[in-house]
Amino acid sequence: MVNPASDSIATPTFADLGLSAVTLRALADEGYATPTPIQAKAIPHVLAGRDLFGCAQTGTGKTAAFTLPIIERLRAAPGRAAARRCRVLVLAPTRELAAQIHESVRAYGRHAGTTAAVIYGGVSQRPQADALARGVDVLVATPGRLLDLVGQRLVDLRSVECLVLDEADRMLDMGFIHDVRRIVGMLPRDRQTLFFSATLPAEVRELADSMLRDPLEVKTAPQATSAETVTQSVYHVAKQEKKQRLVQLLREEPMSRVIVFTRTKHGADKLHRDLDKAGISAAAIHGNKSQNQRERALAAFKSPRPPVLIATDIAARGIDVDAVSHVVNYELPHEPETYVHRIGRTGRAGQSGTAVSFCDHEERPRLAAIERLIRMRIPAENAPEGIAASTEPQSDRGHDRRPRGGRSGGSGRQQRRGGSGRREGSSRSSERRGTPSAAATPAAAPTTPARPRRSKHRRAL
Ligand code: AMP
Repeated sequence: MVNPASDSIATPTFADLGLSAVTLRALADEGYATPTPIQAKAIPHVLAGRDLFGCAQTGTGKTAAFTLPIIERLRAAPGRAAARRCRVLVLAPTRELAAQIHESVRAYGRHAGTTAAVIYGGVSQRPQADALARGVDVLVATPGRLLDLVGQRLVDLRSVECLVLDEADRMLDMGFIHDVRRIVGMLPRDRQTLFFSATLPAEVRELADSMLRDPLEVKTAPQATSAETVTQSVYHVAKQEKKQRLVQLLREEPMSRVIVFTRTKHGADKLHRDLDKAGISAAAIHGNKSQNQRERALAAFKSPRPPVLIATDIAARGIDVDAVSHVVNYELPHEPETYVHRIGRTGRAGQSGTAVSFCDHEERPRLAAIERLIRMRIPAENAPEGIAASTEPQSDRGHDRRPRGGRSGGSGRQQRRGGSGRREGSSRSSERRGTPSAAATPAAAPTTPARPRRSKHRRAL
């Protein structure tokens, strides 16, 4: 279960959102007391028939955010889908996700009498076609198998009233863009569309723009909790030095289980080759790897002597390993939220973790955007090129490494150190460790005691 609407002050109830008694009963069966933030924001608008553009990852309660109002809308305009047709189509990139959504639709719609079917590849199509034969309210499908069945005239998409596209970024990463466009082309133009993606690369934006009409945009704040258990630092390095720096870091820093993030699949493969050449055991996972290759890499990563795992953001989403000691951001992501997702891979289950980022000259605006989002300055292990290390606490001159935007509070461990009054050494060293100045101290300084910890990486590099 997720943490309900923790970032909202006046938390509405499910009843406040306009859900009917039968749906409320199903939610009570599930044990949900309060809507999550994305549910609170999205449900009333989806109920009113509006398109939605949701930036949210799994774990935020997004499935219920679209399923609950869909169930209500189906009830409000009763009618059965004709044979081989559906009223709502949900597209998901993987069979696991499709099966999960199908299960949720059945659970949330159990008292409303919502009918649902799921189709995905890799298994016999016969039972799936049978389930569809009489028509269903909600069809959950992966794109490839859906197109197969449409081609065989076992599914007809001409009555779809609402389309949900889930994990759009992963769809693109897995190469389903053409399939998705073909499917969308078969649907009535006059429909409601709900579009979800965890990250927002330009291609996702383009796809959304081509499908949505005046959508409500809902962005869920990334879970800030990881920042509290993860020690973060950044190295300012030239692009061409990154490889050598990484090799050095991996050799000299004790890291029991490390994920290295690259932005592209090509970058992941290249780094894999480079680490191989340096004699460092590594494995790569990304969208171009087969399911088998991914599974093998993950199994090795979970073993007692794991290789360094090189991953792209989307591929890494399926990694559920608790004891990751280090995350290395070999390249900083375009989307600041992605940084938070990445570092959330370590410091899990109450353990501490370390996130090290490499930032070259071109990436500095991305670093600034990340710092704005997490509302703290990530401690720099060295001064950026061209900016002399100052013996004074840094001001806003030169490269602005302070969090901006007025609200300079935050939840980083380094800041809590400042909030609890335990500073390390001189103002310079506390500055280098990211302890905020008085002006940057959060309004409500967290009170967790500090754990002084000197950086090991500075020694290593
Ligand atoms: P999702 O992001 O849709 O994958 O949901 C993540 C998990 O949160 C699922 O296990 C849901 O059952 C659960 N969940 C969804 N909404 C709520 C809620 N309002 N309260 C508690 N748990 C929820």
